[in-house]
Amino acid sequence: MKIRVGHLYPDYLNIYADRGNIAVLARRAALRGLELEVTAIGIGEEVTAGGHDLLYVGGGQDREQALIAPDMAAKGPAIAEALARGAVVLGVCGGYQLLGRFYRDRYGSELPGAGVLPLHTLAGERRMIGDVLLECSFDGSPRTLAGFENHAGRTRLDAGAEPLGRVVAGFGNDGESGFEGCRLGRAVGTYLHGPLLPRNPWLADWLLAQALAHRSGGEPPELAPLADELESQAHAVSAARARARGGRS
Ligand code: GLN
Repeated sequence: MKIRVGHLYPDYLNIYADRGNIAVLARRAALRGLELEVTAIGIGEEVTAGGHDLLYVGGGQDREQALIAPDMAAKGPAIAEALARGAVVLGVCGGYQLLGRFYRDRYGSELPGAGVLPLHTLAGERRMIGDVLLECSFDGSPRTLAGFENHAGRTRLDAGAEPLGRVVAGFGNDGESGFEGCRLGRAVGTYLHGPLLPRNPWLADWLLAQALAHRSGGEPPELAPLADELESQAHAVSAARARARGGRS
């Protein structure tokens, strides 16, 4: 079975090795005899509802975000429809911000977003940089996520919106709320770079299983467990660095 991935703006939004998330999904799929079919979706190119099982958008500097934001906003309805039909959406940092309503940069320019996630982002003076550790719960199981953040944006979730996790160490969405990221159905938005998925293989598998459910129209399958020795070590090292850094500083 082929899992169809739409990679939004790979030439503009790809910093801190965010492209590596696609490589991890492809490798973990292949280890289960599955194939990932990745299509780049650029400016002026369509997001066809039903055409992808997973849509991915990485991070980028304000300059690159400004170049794609009007196009991302125009794609908002199609991304929202894909999500409503059960496709998976993963947005990292700058991509996460532009899945929301807007990102206002530190000069006051408002970059329009897709309006898919219930949030908006305002850039602050001081960048929030460093290793991050989150506690979260997926399908009722307690989990941790470890990664690296580097953003000026302070993301405010709407009242009642679901964060991805609670910040154990690091800044997270805004350095104040104590939460990081956002979840909405099969959509996940996060500030965690690194890239995110090599050090958090359980999330890669969750995304793959949800994408397979979209592809088959059935339930998310139980994927065969993988050894993940290196991945667990990478997670442990990243988590230890974050803990060493402590709270929101
Ligand atoms: N340019 C955005 C910010 O600074 C996002 C940065 C990123 O993707 N790492 O907040």
